[in-house]
Amino acid sequence: MENLSTGASQKGIQLIGCSDCLHPVWRSEVASHEEVDEGTYRVGDLSVVLTAEVEAAHKIHHLLIFPSLSSVEGFIEIIGDRSTNIAKDGRPNVKMDGVEIAQAAVDVDALYGPCHAFTPWTAMYRFHDSLEDCYGDLSDRVSYLELGLSANSDYADRIQHLQDVTFLTNSDAHSPVPLRLAREFNRFEMEEPTFPELRKALHREGGRKPVLNVGMPPQEGKYNESGCSRCFVHYGLEQAIELSWRCPCGGRIKKGVVDRVNELASWPEPRHPGHRPEYVSIIPLAQIIAMAIGVKSPSSKKAMSRWTPLIEAFGDEVSVLVDSPMDEIASVAEPRVVHAIRAFRDGRVILHPGGGGQYGSAELPDDPISLQDY
Ligand SMILES: [Zn+2]
Ligand SMILES: [Zn+2]
Repeated sequence: MENLSTGASQKGIQLIGCSDCLHPVWRSEVASHEEVDEGTYRVGDLSVVLTAEVEAAHKIHHLLIFPSLSSVEGFIEIIGDRSTNIAKDGRPNVKMDGVEIAQAAVDVDALYGPCHAFTPWTAMYRFHDSLEDCYGDLSDRVSYLELGLSANSDYADRIQHLQDVTFLTNSDAHSPVPLRLAREFNRFEMEEPTFPELRKALHREGGRKPVLNVGMPPQEGKYNESGCSRCFVHYGLEQAIELSWRCPCGGRIKKGVVDRVNELASWPEPRHPGHRPEYVSIIPLAQIIAMAIGVKSPSSKKAMSRWTPLIEAFGDEVSVLVDSPMDEIASVAEPRVVHAIRAFRDGRVILHPGGGGQYGSAELPDDPISLQDY
C-alpha cells in the first residue's frame, strides 16, 4: 500500500481502486489504514476505494465498487457459496450470470459494470450484444463501462445503447512503479477524492462528472485487430470468416476489438453525447524515453536516469506528457527526448496494432523537427 502511494504521487494519481478486496488478506491490509470517509481509505496522500473484479458466467469480468467494508462482506455472503475460490483468488470465479451479479451488487448498494468490455476472452461483448442482454432489467443501473486497453470512446460511441453510460479508462497494475501504475486513468470533477464523490461523478450528479478519459492508444492493446493467437498474423474480418477463424498455422484467430465494434456499431462514425469527456491517448513517459534513446526496456537504467529529472522538475508524468510547456521540458531533457515528447503530443508516434494476444508497438516518426520549434 505504501509503495502504491509513492508510485501514485509520481504519476499524478490521487485516487485508486484497491482491486481484489474480496480477498481476505488484501482486504484487511486496506482496512488497516485510516478510513477518512465512507468507503475511502487514506495511505499517505493517496485515497483508496474498495473495488474488485469477479469472473462470472461465460467468463465475463464485472467490476464492483463498494461503499463500505460491510457491503463487501454482505456481497461475499451472497456469492460465497457460488464460488470455490473466493478466499484464495483476488478475482474469484463465481457461478452466477450478469443479472445475478447485478442483483447481488444492488442488494449491498455496490456499483457494477462490465470490465474491459471488448476484450475477446473474458468480457461482456465476447458473449453478449448489449448491456441489456447481460444485465437484464438491471442494465439501467449499470454505473460504468470499462473500455479496456484495446478500445477508446471513438470505438464505443459508435454503439447506440452505450450513449448514456459513463466510460472508464481503468488499468490494473501488478507493480507500483509509475511505468505500470495507471497506464490508463480517468479525471473527474469532484470536491475531494472519496467514494461518495466518486459515486456522484460516475452518475454525473450535482455537477460531478468525468472530465477526461486517458488511455493507451487502442492500437497498442493485445487484441486490437483480429489475429492468430499462435503466430500473431493479423486478419481482416472477412478473411477470418472465410478461414472459419482458423489460421493456416493451426492456431485460432481471435476476433479483434476493431472487428467486434464493427459488428456491434450502429453508426460508421462515433457520435459523442454531450456528457462524454475528451479521450486522450497516452504512452508512458519511460517508454517514450526508451524509444528516443534507442533502448529496448523502459525500466532500464539509461531510460530511468532520464525519467527521474523530468519527474523531479515537473512533479509527475502527466505534467510532462500533457501539460508543461515544451520550452521548459527542453531546459531539462536532451533534444532527442524532447523530440519524442513533441512527437507524442502531436500524435505523430507511429502505432503498429496488436492482435491475437500480442501487444501493439509504437515507433517514433522519421522526421526530425528543428529545435527552434520549441
Ligand atoms: Zn478482468
Ligand atoms: Zn497462425
